[in-house]
Formats: sequence, structure tokens, C-alpha cells
Amino acid sequence: MADDVSPAKPKRGFQTRMSHTGRATKQQYGFVNPPLLRGSTVLYPTMADRKALGAKRGERALTYGIGGSQTHWALEDVIAEVEGGTRCAIVCSGLAAVTTPLLAFLKAGDHCLVPDSVYGPARNFCDSLMTRFGVETTYYDPCVDEAGTAALMRPNTTVVYTESPGSHTFEVQDIPAIARAAHAGGAKVLMDNTWGIHYFQPFKHGVDVSIQAATKYPAGHSDVLIGSVTVNSNADWQTLHATVRALGQYASPDDCWLTLRGLRTMAVRLKAQMEAGIEVANWLSHRPEVLQVLHPALPGAPGHALWKRDFTGACSLFGVVFKPEFSVESTHAFVEALELFGIGASWGGFESLALPTTGFLTRTAGSGTFPGPLVRLHIGLEDVGDILADLEQGLAVMRAFGR
Ligand SMILES: *Cc1c(COP(=O)(O)O)cnc(C)c1O
Repeated sequence: MADDVSPAKPKRGFQTRMSHTGRATKQQYGFVNPPLLRGSTVLYPTMADRKALGAKRGERALTYGIGGSQTHWALEDVIAEVEGGTRCAIVCSGLAAVTTPLLAFLKAGDHCLVPDSVYGPARNFCDSLMTRFGVETTYYDPCVDEAGTAALMRPNTTVVYTESPGSHTFEVQDIPAIARAAHAGGAKVLMDNTWGIHYFQPFKHGVDVSIQAATKYPAGHSDVLIGSVTVNSNADWQTLHATVRALGQYASPDDCWLTLRGLRTMAVRLKAQMEAGIEVANWLSHRPEVLQVLHPALPGAPGHALWKRDFTGACSLFGVVFKPEFSVESTHAFVEALELFGIGASWGGFESLALPTTGFLTRTAGSGTFPGPLVRLHIGLEDVGDILADLEQGLAVMRAFGR
């Protein structure tokens, strides 16, 4: 019975835990899955009940909709399990999972270190709202080492933000080294771990707060926007949770329920997509049109040694740098010619995506410059043979387009 399965048994395999965590069969009328609970008002039988529940505020008590319900809490438990943390807060989007802990762990007068390769909307948040509220951001080379991080620390540096590999350019960060320098300077380490997901265990490598755009592989079907923030200590939970509540952060229970459903199959989807992604990346690395494939799991690719040391697998998102003789316009012709790849943002769904990214990159610390145009690929669950055939005909269109 699911009730008897302890979600806290770390010796059990990932696939087992994804099947059994967050289920309480006896409390869900015997059904396999928890019911979807919707609601704003919670009715109290008596005033004494109201007082008793009110005293439990902050814990998992049904007092009012915004505090969440069993639907949210089951999802929190499963994501905490995925990342190896103690507590998790579910928020309305991946971007909210980025901004909420920044607001929780920074205050006016503080200084924040952010990698140059950070997800674009996170940079926008630092440059707009955080600046307006008196937080200064320094963008740093994502490939910085421990001494380099220490040199960037100031007495008022309270957050060292990380994202590994970096958005669009896939630089793998030396998280343990960065975390040592950050902690020596009294700062918290925040990490956007969307790419690594279960394959990078943030709390084993010095991260304090782990961010997931659960929109990606956890939801997994390109039909939900949702985010999670996971911590590994009670003190960090108190700090985070206070800000989650102050902001009125909430995710629809329908979206939580869909994400829970997605998570039940995430381990097998991830494994299949990892294998397909590596096969496609390897195939591309041997193509005459390609200068470099930015896939950390590919031997010889940038960041491969750090990936091998710190990750146990890879997702299916990577970059392709074409030779300089190809124009940005020819990469547009390439993605438009593809039949199985949609042109679109986001990733982690069951379907393949292609996105020319050269024009999107904002870099201010000198990182992420490549001699040729860049395309980001997300490999879905289609047959690999069909994907390769599609890429082959797309590349022929690209060559014919001219340079
Ligand atoms: C997509 C993404 C986000 C934001 O997630 P949304 O749910 O789309 O808001 C944050 N970080 C990374 C690395 C992402 O790829």
C-alpha cells in the first residue's frame, strides 16, 4: 500500500520514489492519486476550531486557499524528493521561482552576484525591480573558480546566484567551488537547477536554495506553467516561506495536479530524452555545417569534465554553434524547414523544439561569444531515426539557402 511506503527512504531508486512519494491512499478514498482540491474559503465548524487552526498558520493546516491544500503539499513533497531537499514551495511559474527567493534573501543595500549566462528574464528582474529596491547586481563569468568568486565578494554580498549549465550557452559552473567562496563570505547560494533537475543534486554540492521551472520536465507536456523553490534547512524555509506568503504566491491546484501527474513518468521520460539528446548531439558534432555542439554530456564539449564530476545524467536541451560561414538567416531557414521541431521557447515537453538564439543573448561580462550562429535544440520523445532524418533535410535547406 502506498501509505506504507516511506518517501524518506533515500536508498530506494529514483523511479520508485517518483511512483510512490506524495501519495496517501487512505486519505484519498482509496484512489491511487490524490483528489484535486479547489477552494478559497475554508469553513470552520466552531470558533474554537478557527482559533486552533489559526494557531497552526505557517504549517500545513487548511485555513484559507492561499495557504495551499493537499494537492499543493503532495507536489511539494515530490519535488523536494526530486532535489533531495527538506521543504519546497510551489509558485505560479518558473520565473516566480527565480524572483521569489531573490526577494526573500536580499534587501535594500545588498549586493548580488549573477552569472552572465543567466536566464534572460532573471537578468531583467535584477536590472529592473531589484535595482529599484536598492539591490546591486554584478554579472560574473559563469566559468569563475573559487578564488575568482572570492574576489567578487563584497561585505554586503548576501546572494550568489547560479544557473548551471547556463541558458542558451550551456556553461557548466563549478558549483562546489563557488559555494565555498560564497559561504566563506556569508552569502547564500541560489541555483536555477532546471536543466540538471534530478541529475544534479543541489544540496550535496553546496547550494542553499534550488529553483525549478517545473514547467519543463516535471509538468512535461507543454501545457502548464509552474515553479518550485526547494531548501534544505528550517531557517531557510522560514525565510523563504515568509516571502512566499507575503507576496501571495500561489499556483492553481489544477496545475499542481497536472504536474504531479507529469512527475509520475518523469524518470522514464528524462532517461529516454537524455539518450536521444546525446545521440542527436553526437550526430550533429560530426556534421560539416557544425562548428561545436554545446552539450555538457558530450566528451570534448565545454564543461564536460565538471558535468562528469557533478551530474549523474543530462536532460535533452543543448546548443549548436554553426560554422561562421553560415548566416543567422540561414539558421532561420533551417528551423523553418524542420517538420518535427516546433519553433518555440520553453522545453521539457514530449515534443522537439528548435530556436535560433544568437539574437537573444544579453551578455555584459564578456562570456558567451561564438564565431558562428547559435541554435538551441530540445529533443522530445519522437523516434531518433526520424529526428535525424528531419535534421538532415533541414541542413540541406540551410546549405542551399546560401551563406
Ligand atoms: C523556462 C525557464 C525558466 C522560467 O520558467 P517559466 O515557467 O517559463 O516561467 C526559468 N529558468 C530557466 C532556466 C528556464 O529555462
